[in-house]
Amino acid sequence: SGYQRVLEENRKLYNQVQDLKGNIRVYCRVRPFLPGQPNRSSSVDHIEEGNISIIAPLKYSREGKKSFTFNKVFGPSATQEEVFSDTQPLIRSVLDGYNVCIFAYGQTGSGKTYTMSGPKELTEEGQGVNYRALGDLFLLSEQRKDTICYDISVQMLEIYNEQVKDLLVSDGVNKRLEIRNSSQTGINVPEANLVPVSTTSDVINLMNLGQKNRSVGATAMNDRSSRSHSCLTVHVQGRDLTSGSILRGCMHLVDLAGSERVDKSEVTGDRLKEAQHINKSLSALGDVIYSLAQKSSHVPYRNSKLTQLLQDSLGGQAKTLMFVHISPEPEALGETISTLKFAERVSTVELGAARVNK
Ligand code: ADP
Repeated sequence: SGYQRVLEENRKLYNQVQDLKGNIRVYCRVRPFLPGQPNRSSSVDHIEEGNISIIAPLKYSREGKKSFTFNKVFGPSATQEEVFSDTQPLIRSVLDGYNVCIFAYGQTGSGKTYTMSGPKELTEEGQGVNYRALGDLFLLSEQRKDTICYDISVQMLEIYNEQVKDLLVSDGVNKRLEIRNSSQTGINVPEANLVPVSTTSDVINLMNLGQKNRSVGATAMNDRSSRSHSCLTVHVQGRDLTSGSILRGCMHLVDLAGSERVDKSEVTGDRLKEAQHINKSLSALGDVIYSLAQKSSHVPYRNSKLTQLLQDSLGGQAKTLMFVHISPEPEALGETISTLKFAERVSTVELGAARVNK
């Protein structure tokens, strides 16, 4: 049928790209200095395709510089459109029935939310990966409408202190939800609202609701959004108009909690507990991706709620993209280097691919 042909063609195209690039890709993005910041020199020495070199004091490197290689590095002047254009093939594959995870990793203030959502005052060109990804899904599903009928719906979850919560509720977030595994639909959170969407403005409204719920309980000193993971999950179901057969794909767009280490001697109580939960889940994520990259027989999905939730979409046929963010300020250097080391560890399997890109 026409549907089979579309699938077949897309798979072929997609596999060609993937043969070259593998299932785990890591992109690095450097935030520009912010307006109003005093003029200072950046800790980034130079960027060349997949390479980034950091000016590092002797404490970190004998040469005074440290280089890292990723699938791609976006400098401070990269636009949202440029960043997204390298993500597009992944979006397409969701409509073909693949699962996809896109992560934003980095210390608080390094630009994670900017990449995924955009600036606070959202403009069309400022729109981040979330909006553009859904926009693309709408466009592509429309193009295929004569052969396949797609339903697209979203959930928005928060993981805070190892508890999963629904951000798409109208009466404030408090109920703690369970992650379940169903033989029909795989890993899911059946109690969380699943909202059908068909236009970008549907998505904007939902994201605004989720954002509002995410900041409940936060104070100026105590910005919860930097200490919880938020996950926008897009469920796609396609029905072949000729044969009636169904395919399912799903995409998780995850804005991770800030990766900064807190000094255990300086925090206590709730703040220490949060820090330990974040630390645990980010290292669990790192360990899962690392095991997949090493093709290890045991992948430790069960060590955190985050990796349990994403189990279906990490490994196997699923595609993973990690955006790691760094800040240009020399004060951030310690965190910058630990971010780049985390990223380097999860991208080891891609060394070959990164070299091909060079
Ligand atoms: P995070 O989510 O990592 O805490 P944000 O995305 O909130 O960081 O970014 C911190 C600040 O920097 C925000 O004011 C944001 O608008 C700005 N910013 C981040 N990345 C960029 C960028 N690429 N271009 C312009 N401004 C940016």
